[in-house]
Amino acid sequence: MKERLLFLNRQIMPDESNEITLVGDLAAMDFTARQAIPLLLPYCAKDIACLYRYQEGCSRCGQCDINSAYAIAARYGLQPVTIQNYEMLEETLEKLKQQGCKGFIGTCCRRFWLKHDADFARLGVPGILINVENCTCYDLGKEQAAYQGSFSKQTRLKTRLLELVIDTILNSNRRFICEI
Ligand code: SF4
Repeated sequence: MKERLLFLNRQIMPDESNEITLVGDLAAMDFTARQAIPLLLPYCAKDIACLYRYQEGCSRCGQCDINSAYAIAARYGLQPVTIQNYEMLEETLEKLKQQGCKGFIGTCCRRFWLKHDADFARLGVPGILINVENCTCYDLGKEQAAYQGSFSKQTRLKTRLLELVIDTILNSNRRFICEI
C-alpha cells in the first residue's frame, strides 16, 4: 500500500491529508540539510497571458497563484522553480540528485503523481507533493500538450494547504509521520 502521510498539524484536516502524497524513497527523505529546499511549481498555474507562462520564473506581479507560492517560498527560505514541461522536471530532479538534495516539496495534480510514481522513484530524490485545485489538462484530454509545456488553460493551487505542509515540515522538526 502507498505510504500515507499523517500530519500532526491540527490545521490540516483529515480529508486534506488525502491531497498530499510522498514520492520516491521515503527512507532517504531528509529536510534538515542546509541547502534551500526546492519548491517545484507547475507552469499551468501561471496566468495564461503571463510573459513567464512558457519560461521558468515569475516577476511576482500578483496575477496568479504562482505569486502566492513564491511568497510562501520567501517566507520559509525555499527555492521556487517553475517546471515548464516534463523534460524539465526530469532535468531538475537529476540536477538536484547530483547536488545531494534529499527532499523536495512540490505541487501537481493527483493524476500526474499517480502516473509518474515509478519515474519519481527512478529519478532518486524523494518528495512531498500537494494536489492542485483542478486537474484541467487530464480532464480536457490535453495531457500531451501539458507535457510539452504548451497547455493553454490555468490551474489553481492549494496555497493554504501548501503553506501548512511547509510550515509543518520546517517548524516542527519532522512532526509528521508516515505509515505503510
Ligand atoms: S504572478 Fe508570476 S507567474 Fe503569475 S502572472 Fe504574475 S509574473 Fe506571471
